[in-house]
Amino acid sequence: MQIYNSASHLKEEFVPNVSGKVNMYTCGPTVYHYAHIGNLRSYIMEDVLEKFLRYEGYDVKRVMNITDVGHLSSDGDTGEDKMLKGAKREHKSVMDIARFYTDAFFDDCKKLNIKTPDVVEPATNCIGEYIAIIERLLDKGYAYQAGGNIYFDTSKLDKYYVFNEHDADDLAVGVREGVEEDDNKRNKADFVLWFTKSKFEDQELKWDSPWGLGYPGWHIECSGISMKHLGEYLDIHCGGIDNAFPHHTNEIAQSESYLGHKWCNYWFHVHHLNTSTGKMSKSKGEFLTVSLLEEKGYDPLVYRFFCLQSHYRKSLVFSWENLDNAAAAYSKLISRVAALDPQGEVDTAELNRLKAAFIEALDNDLNTSMAVTALYDALKAPCSDATKLAAVASFDEVLGLSLIATAEAARSASAGEGDPEIDALVAERAAAKKARDFATADRIRDELKARGIELTDTPKGTTWKRV
Ligand code: AMP
Ligand code: ZN
Repeated sequence: MQIYNSASHLKEEFVPNVSGKVNMYTCGPTVYHYAHIGNLRSYIMEDVLEKFLRYEGYDVKRVMNITDVGHLSSDGDTGEDKMLKGAKREHKSVMDIARFYTDAFFDDCKKLNIKTPDVVEPATNCIGEYIAIIERLLDKGYAYQAGGNIYFDTSKLDKYYVFNEHDADDLAVGVREGVEEDDNKRNKADFVLWFTKSKFEDQELKWDSPWGLGYPGWHIECSGISMKHLGEYLDIHCGGIDNAFPHHTNEIAQSESYLGHKWCNYWFHVHHLNTSTGKMSKSKGEFLTVSLLEEKGYDPLVYRFFCLQSHYRKSLVFSWENLDNAAAAYSKLISRVAALDPQGEVDTAELNRLKAAFIEALDNDLNTSMAVTALYDALKAPCSDATKLAAVASFDEVLGLSLIATAEAARSASAGEGDPEIDALVAERAAAKKARDFATADRIRDELKARGIELTDTPKGTTWKRV
């Protein structure tokens, strides 16, 4: 597989450290609020990557943290802990907030067919690991104590800015977000490994450490959790593009200084979901959630389909019109799958040819829109329905659109007089209604009426008869 590596700025052949095995790490959510559909774009695309690696036969171990401490309101290590802000907003404890929003996150993931990583580790579980790393960084001279906190000294590195041509002036942007600069830092880019002092003394969760009662910085969490479960050599690290700097840049700085060798070979960054007014973000307070999509009548898998239609390295603009287009396309796709006759022989040679086109698309830096095209091509291919169904089932292992199950549900909801063509149209109408594509649903009803078919909608689905 060719994959774009943000660290080298090149598309590279993916070669894991140990043949056949992939160590994969994902930055998990900061659980002070619901995940918005922008966050979930990142998790959907990372899920497709994981599923594709498995599809290609790799034995993948994927680890994700849950950020339940230390992520401050400015990524430049200033401001209040986001978790504490969430707790105050809801008059609850930090742990209650963490539990609630962690569950909410996984509920959303389930609705979007995002597989739960093999290991999910809350940051508050691994305090000992962070302390051990920080102690070694101090011993090796990569860290220093100032004003009660422990900082990483970025001037000790030959190359600190790995991903972009960031410089100290860019950092000033983070500092401008209504918070003051930290005078304890020797260099502007230095970052906190361990806090015992911050402007916000009411931090709820604190732990003993060799430097006093305090709490870890956000960046050390991901290094500590990754090394705890995946060892010293990581194949691929994922996250949204905003994590590249400073979060991932700092993860690399501290991990490689601690280990004394290269840590992670490939960096996979998903670009942002934007609205017409800019990046969707939790801190802005106004954002879209999976529950809101459901309230508006959209199947969450329509949103997954919407994400798959564009490349993960391009920013994606969300609008209701764009989502409606995806809903119409999804319902049409379901009806085409529902219309396939499962009887008959699978042509293995043809199936392999269809699979090869699908794999070729994803082998090219996870080109999901081309993979969706390969799916449409399979539905049009001059082969048996059984072969097409086998291709759909196979591709859906990676795409995760529940194509077969949704098509079956649509088919069984449209019990009629056994005419496959009418059944397919009734199924298409059911899928369109589910996706709130009422224009298509009404058009199909009218078309059937004109052909003398009467539909009856029941709680269990739609039946039809000739009148
Ligand atoms: P957070 O919960 O804020 O720690 O973010 C969780 C993940 O969502 C991180 O990988 C972020 O980089 C990513 N992310 C944040 N905002 C967006 C967005 N608008 N579009 C895509 N990914 C995002
Ligand atoms: Zn992280």
